[in-house]
Amino acid sequence: MRALSGYSAEELVRILAPLPPYKAREVFKWIARGVRDFEGMTNLGKQEREDLSRRFTLRSTGRDSALADRDGTVKLRVSLRDAAAEAVLLRDKEGRGTACISSQAGCPVGCAFCKTGSLGFLRNLEAGEMVEQVLHIREIGAEQGTEVSHLVVMGMGEPLLNLGELRRAAEIIMDPQGLGVSRRRITVSTSGICAGIRELADSGPHLRLAFSLTSAREELRNALVPIGRDNPLKQVKEALGYYQQTTGQRITLEAVLLGGLNTGAEEAAAMRDFARGLDAVVNLIPWNPVEGLRFRGRALREPSGAETEAFAGLLRQGGLAVTRRFRRGRGVSGACGQLGWTSGGPPR
Ligand code: SF4
Repeated sequence: MRALSGYSAEELVRILAPLPPYKAREVFKWIARGVRDFEGMTNLGKQEREDLSRRFTLRSTGRDSALADRDGTVKLRVSLRDAAAEAVLLRDKEGRGTACISSQAGCPVGCAFCKTGSLGFLRNLEAGEMVEQVLHIREIGAEQGTEVSHLVVMGMGEPLLNLGELRRAAEIIMDPQGLGVSRRRITVSTSGICAGIRELADSGPHLRLAFSLTSAREELRNALVPIGRDNPLKQVKEALGYYQQTTGQRITLEAVLLGGLNTGAEEAAAMRDFARGLDAVVNLIPWNPVEGLRFRGRALREPSGAETEAFAGLLRQGGLAVTRRFRRGRGVSGACGQLGWTSGGPPR
């Protein structure tokens, strides 16, 4: 049966006919409010509810196991019809909740430092599967008294390789009658897909954009982020400039710091060169360990605190704005780069 979570209000008007349009729009609102079945839609008639439940379901995914870290992070395994994906509830010091969702089951990019990348690629997620991750995370937040106000598409997968479904999901999530998350509170992180960045600039929605730079030295970057071979840094920078020009937004440059690999003076100089001419802030993400990941024959290691601080200092000396990602969710392997199907074996 078709699940309705992945459709906009106007699509539901068509799909749910002969239900009157104003009632189809009510169904859209009920789904966003988290109702689990048609029975809960109390402003529909009994007969209408029965008809709809014979033809449709509201959701296609389920809340599987959830692991809570001491720092308040919750990692949720979401069961899909044929696989699994992971979504994370992050809570900052002020108690603000952010949902981190996946856009693909697995990932075809294969970054050397990322658990998801080591798993291979299964398929793109559908819009409804992304919307439902937000619903699940919002429900977990509500159970814990955390309002989930922000969204980052930084979980499993490369969102710009699934742009069509991402766009559909974002429309539903941003709709004031739906989940009502403002465009400014949604960030998409990309490994640097030039065509996708340009398409997002041209066709919207103009979400906040983060580029996972990691190294501005092309040879090292291409080894760490293989998709870089098809998306050279010069072209990525041009695409980011175009996005910035089109949207007027500041770009975030993310750098996963790998001890002894991309934390030296040469790297800092290359990053400063890359950022020149962009309105950008660099977000440093000390690598979160993933067992078994090796690079050029050696085990990867996380940078020491001093290494990270020294690197941040070198960037700042060059006039760059630098922030540091707080480590959250490591206790449940729910931190950046650690997502996979850890809580129950491989996907079905
Ligand atoms: S870091 Fe992102 S793009 Fe790279 S393999 Fe992991 S999920 Fe894919």
